[in-house]
Amino acid sequence: MSSSYKPSRYVSRSRLKVSFEFFPPKTEEMEATLWDSIERLAPLNPAFVSVTYGAGGSTRERTHSTVARIIKETSLKPAAHLTCVAATKEQVDEVIRDYWAAGVRHIVALRGDPVGGVGTRYESHPGGYEGSPELVAGIKAIGDFEVSVSAYPEKHPESGSIDTDIEMLKRKVDAGATRAITQFFFDNDVYLRYLDRARDAGITIPIVPGIVPVQNFKQTAGFAARTGASVPDWLARRFEGLENDPATRKLIAAAVAAEQALDLVDRGVTDFHFYTMNRADLVYAICHLLGMRPQEAGVSAVAA
Ligand code: FAD
Repeated sequence: MSSSYKPSRYVSRSRLKVSFEFFPPKTEEMEATLWDSIERLAPLNPAFVSVTYGAGGSTRERTHSTVARIIKETSLKPAAHLTCVAATKEQVDEVIRDYWAAGVRHIVALRGDPVGGVGTRYESHPGGYEGSPELVAGIKAIGDFEVSVSAYPEKHPESGSIDTDIEMLKRKVDAGATRAITQFFFDNDVYLRYLDRARDAGITIPIVPGIVPVQNFKQTAGFAARTGASVPDWLARRFEGLENDPATRKLIAAAVAAEQALDLVDRGVTDFHFYTMNRADLVYAICHLLGMRPQEAGVSAVAA
């Protein structure tokens, strides 16, 4: 990653498009945190905000009620995540139809982790969708949804090679996906190399980088190990000795993610997907550093 900080990095804000990912809250306290975050980030006028779907459909109701509330109380466009693991086609189709009835028009379609957890063999449900391309086709058959899918610049842990991953992405595009969102990564060269290979394979849809602000280094490193994302030594060194210093950790986290995003902007990237972990402060700061400012319409985006 280049380390020079040039004024040219102040790109026109109108060129940048951001989206924010949240997870459905489990408790009233978490719900309050989520809504504070949505309120704080809404004025940045994101292209969409997405809400994850718990492993094996464990958050089915909570994901639904969160996206339904976003539709009812804000002018934000929600995207509902959906997985097809451990469910029959009928069950998945019912969720899709319920999303449509609630006014959702964008789904992030995923296969989901194996029932036995990451690292175990994936078995599709005997009466279910075989995998993500089939799920994408199933969604498109039910309604004219916008469908986003995943992409893995460092390959998915189950994949033999990057080429296998790109073939899977191509199948998802052929089934109707119009945007891919990447697993988080810290080395921009890895992402840009993946982008080149996807373009060489004839994939033309946007492949939006997923950016994770490192709120807690140990947790992020553990998550990265499970998802096949690598954590460079330089990143570990930046958080060294800060285990009991959350305030400094936060400043470093904002600086690291802003540096990564600004470098991508320098290299022509205009769309970003932020994994917010339901917290607004870091993401808001990073977007500010990217040149984004609250917009009038956005300020009133969240209804009282
Ligand atoms: P796919 O794109 O279908 O497959 C990924 C790779 O795995 C493929 O390239 C292929 O090479 C390999 N592969 C797939 N199936 C097989 C197989 N049967 N045998 C061998 N190799 C295979 N998980 C959730 O539970 N809920 C969420 O809301 C959620 N949101 C996510 C959002 C994003 C942007 C990303 C990147 C991931 C998300 N995940 C979520 C995680 C995702 O469900 C897991 O990574 C899962 O293991 C793969 O699902 P997928 O649709 O990404 O896989």
